[in-house]
Amino acid sequence: MKVRLARTAGFCMGVRRAMELALWAAHHAERPLFTFGPLIHNPQVLALLRDKGVEELERVPPPGSFSGGAVIIRAHGVPPEQRRGLKAAGFTQVIDGTCPRVVRVQAIIRRAARAGRGVVIVGDADHPEVVGLLGHSQGQGRVVSRPEEVEDLPEMVRPVVVAQTTQNQEVFAAVVERLHARFPALEVHDTICEATHRRQDEVRRLAAEVEGVVVVGGRASGNTRRLAEVAAAAGARVFLVESEAELDRAALSRLGSVGLTAGASTPNWVIRRLMRELTAIRSQKESRFRFWVRRVFRFLVLSQLWVALGAAGMATASCMLMGLALRGELVAAAFFYIYAMHVLNQFLDKEAGQYNDPDRAHFLSKHHHFLVGSGVVSSAAALVLCYTLGWLPLGLVAVMSVMGLLYSVPLAPRWLTRRTGIQRLKDIPGSKTLSAAVAWAFTVVVLPAVALGPPPPAAAGVAFVYTLVLVLVRCALFDVLDVQGDLIVGKETIPILLGEERTRRLLWWLSAGLAGLMFLAAGAGLVPALGLWLCLPVAGMAAMQFVQARAWITPGVLSEGLADLNFWLAGLVALVWRAWG
Ligand code: SF4
Repeated sequence: MKVRLARTAGFCMGVRRAMELALWAAHHAERPLFTFGPLIHNPQVLALLRDKGVEELERVPPPGSFSGGAVIIRAHGVPPEQRRGLKAAGFTQVIDGTCPRVVRVQAIIRRAARAGRGVVIVGDADHPEVVGLLGHSQGQGRVVSRPEEVEDLPEMVRPVVVAQTTQNQEVFAAVVERLHARFPALEVHDTICEATHRRQDEVRRLAAEVEGVVVVGGRASGNTRRLAEVAAAAGARVFLVESEAELDRAALSRLGSVGLTAGASTPNWVIRRLMRELTAIRSQKESRFRFWVRRVFRFLVLSQLWVALGAAGMATASCMLMGLALRGELVAAAFFYIYAMHVLNQFLDKEAGQYNDPDRAHFLSKHHHFLVGSGVVSSAAALVLCYTLGWLPLGLVAVMSVMGLLYSVPLAPRWLTRRTGIQRLKDIPGSKTLSAAVAWAFTVVVLPAVALGPPPPAAAGVAFVYTLVLVLVRCALFDVLDVQGDLIVGKETIPILLGEERTRRLLWWLSAGLAGLMFLAAGAGLVPALGLWLCLPVAGMAAMQFVQARAWITPGVLSEGLADLNFWLAGLVALVWRAWG
């Protein structure tokens, strides 16, 4: 099944911010910990927060009910009296998760009310955001949900009209038209959030280009329902579901292509599960050949065979960059070691994987025995191959394997853990990304240097930095997509430490710096001219950064396979360069 994922699907900025605050609080804030009302309209997220000990407060508790603890105000915001009530209830911390864009609407309403003007809010009267907005109007606000209701409004002095941030654009325009006719001095503030505009515009376009649209989100989520309405109005066959279990597979298999979008409160892992289910459906319109090509590619990427072949490519390139002979045992050892490392690490990272990559988590549980068995056999194969190259290479790979095992073992003394919260090497912020890059650099650069060397130190240094940075960029690129899941399990990756934007900027600088280094090193004769050609994989990785930042590619098997193709490319470029040389 051909699936097109909407670029705007999933958490909007406000919901993501509230969710990040809640997850941060789940790991760091004082207990008891509550959200005031459901944090977002999504049952899976609410269940997850309950698992983490974040309870829900339905109403403001009487003053002095608590002597500590924390409460989180959700993205919708609250009326001022509720905020005061929460403070009086005795919580040590009232964590404000109100979306900055909702805060702006509240400010418009307060200003109008202070000037004695009437306020019309276009939205659903019982929606928490609208209840919060109304609370800022000092009793001068009225809620209108349909154009016909304008006639029922009382007389107002120079009224101001605002919209619930997730309001349907057409409904708002129709209400404003009627209001203008009744109140010529009307002041209009189109406060429909840009994220809502973009989401609705995109689903309208998407509906015209595919045969059906799947909208995923909580049933209580107004903006999810509106997306379904917009898609239906644009003529698409719409499937509104809360999870993949509700998909009508028989009906979907009769379609050639579907679009997938999600409400602002739908987490990434729910979208990815839907993506996995939809792509696995065999459309009656898809050729058998295409279907099987997709299946084989998927298997290679999810089983880690694809990235391990990339390691073989990188080992080839490194040997040539350092002026060493190309030995089949070394290339094979790199393949087996990296395969074993990636396969076995997935099992250590299982919890985060369920959220970050449900497709892979499903694959892991389905092929558990095959993957563990092949991982262990590959480790042994790497050790045997290194033994054939000498004791030193064998010792190096053995030490690397031990380090890999110690990575998840609690090693720090208690006093250090108490002070820093760090118990294992994997608890060090950003360690996962960095350790993977270091392991690659040792496997494809240090191992050949030890086995066949010594190479010229400058060439070895350049090859080491080249591998380290290229792998670091690749791993951090995917960490950016995994922030939601990593936050849930409390993992401190580079994007969590630096934030998404700063991480992306850092990756750009690293890529540019790496290309510069290769030019300089080749120009100064420190490495052969191959160094220049190895800028191609760097450019390929930069291209991946570019398309990923613009959401031109759907996260998943295809994007991962394309990123890892750059490692293949390094090997290919090296072989072509040698054939020409
Ligand atoms: S839809 Fe817009 S206003 Fe509402 S929470 Fe999301 S970002 Fe904020």
